[in-house]
Amino acid sequence: MTRRQKKTLARIAAAALLTLVAALLPLEGVWKALAFAVPYLLVGWDVLWGAIRKILQGQVFDEEFLMSLATIGAFAVGEYPEAAAVMLFYQIGEWFQSVAVGRSRRSIAALMDIRPDMARVLRGGEEIELDPEEVAVGEILLVRPGERIPLDGVIVEGGGSVDTAALTGESLPADKREGDTVISGCISLTGLLKIRTESAYAESTVARILELVENSAEKKARVENFITRFARWYTPLVVASALLLALLPPLLGQGAWSDWLRRALIFLVVSCPCALVVSVPLSFFGGIGGASRDGVLIKGANYLEMLDRVDTLVFDKTGTLTQGRFAVDAIHPQAVSAEELLDIAAAAESYSSHPVAESVVLAHEGDIDRGRIGEVEELAGLGVRAVVDGRTFYVGSGRLMDRVGADWHECHLPGTVIHIAEDRAYMGHIVISDQLKPDAAGAIRRLKELGVKRTVMLTGDGEKVAQAVAEQLGVDEVHAGLLPAQKVEEVERLLAEGCRVAFVGDGINDAPVLSRADVGIAMGALGSDAAIESADIVLMDDKPSRLPLAIRIARRTMRVVRENIAFSLAVKFGILLLSALGLTNMWWAVFGDVGVLILATLNAMRCMVRIKE
Ligand code: ADP
Ligand code: MG
Repeated sequence: MTRRQKKTLARIAAAALLTLVAALLPLEGVWKALAFAVPYLLVGWDVLWGAIRKILQGQVFDEEFLMSLATIGAFAVGEYPEAAAVMLFYQIGEWFQSVAVGRSRRSIAALMDIRPDMARVLRGGEEIELDPEEVAVGEILLVRPGERIPLDGVIVEGGGSVDTAALTGESLPADKREGDTVISGCISLTGLLKIRTESAYAESTVARILELVENSAEKKARVENFITRFARWYTPLVVASALLLALLPPLLGQGAWSDWLRRALIFLVVSCPCALVVSVPLSFFGGIGGASRDGVLIKGANYLEMLDRVDTLVFDKTGTLTQGRFAVDAIHPQAVSAEELLDIAAAAESYSSHPVAESVVLAHEGDIDRGRIGEVEELAGLGVRAVVDGRTFYVGSGRLMDRVGADWHECHLPGTVIHIAEDRAYMGHIVISDQLKPDAAGAIRRLKELGVKRTVMLTGDGEKVAQAVAEQLGVDEVHAGLLPAQKVEEVERLLAEGCRVAFVGDGINDAPVLSRADVGIAMGALGSDAAIESADIVLMDDKPSRLPLAIRIARRTMRVVRENIAFSLAVKFGILLLSALGLTNMWWAVFGDVGVLILATLNAMRCMVRIKE
């Protein structure tokens, strides 16, 4: 609670006490009015003052104005206790709302408590503490056990386990050794690490994630925009009805002025749409915040809303459903030795970050002399063209071989095949195989249980491998041998069929698809800038099982939003109707305004609760 909230609470308590005293005193007439005016003014002076200021600025129909009008009206018709109570409860509602919003805002900050306070840097043999923003690229950081890693970098000395939980929701720490990259925001648990920074703080993973989370409030869901528009005509409409209710029947000779005025005042109190205006954004806020704790970053409420409605999930294969760490099964050279073929392939691939390339480089024992490598061109979804030792090689899929006109042939072995050619002369191929992610099959099953109608896998890899993977995972549809542009076409075809499509990829060769789908979900984004940029939802670690979780979070958030809208409107319209018929009193109005606000806010706060898997 902030100091201001504490002061308001004290004022509310004092006013409540004075109201009680006023109610117990046997007073009549003016004295009674005065006795209630004291707590009324004590608790409501700022509301009255705010209303006056707003009127001077030409803004009517705002909450403070409505409350002031309603309570002054109540005084005018002799409902002193009611007037004091309405103001009292209004302030209780406001107080409650500010505590709830403040709390959820702070809890997002706490959830995302990954901002490093300082960086310890070795400069000229001395340790100095700096603001992470002052550290340059290439400097050596010192991170002690228990400390947060302030910038992204590579371990140059030391090792130990690193806790990534704040970023990924993954509770198992990862082991890191010399030469491994580490990500800012993680905590070094056991070892003393010396880390060479690879980027400035502004480009670090931590800074990017924080920026993303902070900006997520700006992208509003359709329901949020609807509520804003709704509030804009709801309030004037109810106020106009109140005016008609106060004037028309008595002018037509139907009953006393004060009776109709009373009914109209209830309208004024109920005309406040704050329950919706507050609870709907709060629900999204809670959903997005809660998800971030599980390593699911959602870039805006609109994507949460969309994810709730998704019925078709499209997956990339390599690195998304499979691990993207290939083992070499066989080397089939033609006219060169196996070692030579692997050596050329590894050299050609040494600048590529594609999982295939990284695996080939890993399979090649010994260092690759980078001086041998000339111009390199990455051909997205096909492979690479590289100049090694002054000769031009093509390394990649059968499709790439077709492109260059090499005389290649399929391999009889199952697995992903990397073909190698020098210009048009075919040199043979390397057969590599990948493994499914352990939780991929379970994730697909869960998604179907959650009512996802169609699962589709798109891959640039060959038909045989693709079929085998799809079969093992229970994916409904497969399309193999696709270039990145053709993946986009497949997604467009699904969209044209009326499917609501989420695409899940690892951000390598699939950025165009990520942005084309209704919702683009990037996986394994720790450290991958491209994925963080182009996706709408970012899964920090690379586990497919986060997908059903993300969908459940979206579903729950939307359910709470719908509950709140239905409940608030039903209660408010119900009370308006009963009041027009003269069947209510001010206390009903208090419930219709503050009661509904508090209940809706409490319901919205459910969105922050962590979902158990
Ligand atoms: P996926 O759709 O399964 O994620 P990609 O579209 O990234 O696969 O790549 C499709 C195919 O293109 C790969 O299976 C591989 O044969 C080939 N390929 C792509 N990039 C490379 C590379 N750097 N080196 C070798 N082959 C590559
Ligand atoms: Mg891929």
